[in-house]
Amino acid sequence: MSFSSDTKEELCRVASEKPCCRLSELGALYMTLGALSLLGRGQLSVQFTVESPAIARRIFVLLQKEIGIIAQLHYVSHARFGGRRKCVLTVGPHQAPALLMRFGMVDALPDAPPSLRATAPRVRLTRDCCRRAFLRGALLGCGTLSNPETSYHLEFTARDEALRLNIAKCLQSLDVPVKQTVRRGVASLYVKQSDQIATILTAAGAHMAVTTLESMRVRRQVLGTVNRAMNCDNANLQKQMDASEKQLESIAALIQSDRFATLPPALQAIARARTQYPDLSLEELGATLSPPIGKSGVNHRMRRLVQLAGEDLGGQDAPQT
Ligand SMILES: [Zn+2]
Repeated sequence: MSFSSDTKEELCRVASEKPCCRLSELGALYMTLGALSLLGRGQLSVQFTVESPAIARRIFVLLQKEIGIIAQLHYVSHARFGGRRKCVLTVGPHQAPALLMRFGMVDALPDAPPSLRATAPRVRLTRDCCRRAFLRGALLGCGTLSNPETSYHLEFTARDEALRLNIAKCLQSLDVPVKQTVRRGVASLYVKQSDQIATILTAAGAHMAVTTLESMRVRRQVLGTVNRAMNCDNANLQKQMDASEKQLESIAALIQSDRFATLPPALQAIARARTQYPDLSLEELGATLSPPIGKSGVNHRMRRLVQLAGEDLGGQDAPQT
């Protein structure tokens, strides 16, 4: 299960007790997953095409509780959906007008077929509770979330402009700035900050998802700190190895030039220690001497050795007089 589908499963379990909120959530679900069919002779039906059985159940219950409609459920498997099985909930011609009337999409005249007034539900997003319910429906219908272990990304894929405006309005009331992008001709609204994603999920009622998001965020921060520290250690180690390499080259040059035997015993001792222990740090190298010497003492002698070797090379290269 992905973070996205886990979050949707959780949203499907959020209690929706107020009629105003149930209608608002249904409105978002209709705008994202619903379709209107004209059956001829003024008859209408509504279909919700849904990928997850949990969301199909959610819509079924909302329709039943709020409007008293029993939708028909069947499954389709279509090449258009990549061969995946989808659930289709159908509200037939006898019940569709009741739903569309609640959405403000049809006029109901006695003894006349319903006449279509609008192609999108008129949702009232004046109350906080209804805006949260609309966001929940939009997340269920067209939301995707990336796995917070790798990135923070929440996106609403919304072809319909009215839907985008409604989502933007809800996000605005939460002080969440939203960005828009168009991919393959389809517009999306997206948010990429973990705290803003948490605000949206909290508003929609996905509290477990927020907890997961928060703990992942902390984990990523800790891992980031550890990685930075390790990179820093690696850089130091590399520096130490480069220095050791240079010292070994100098010592080898001194031995080759027969100058080594003329060096003061203290320099010879540290040179021998370095040849024997090429991987030790200066501090560790100093500890192998008897008597042991400190890091700055080792550093001083090493510099002297490198310098002498440099002079030697310079002497060899210098023209003979
Ligand atoms: Zn409400």
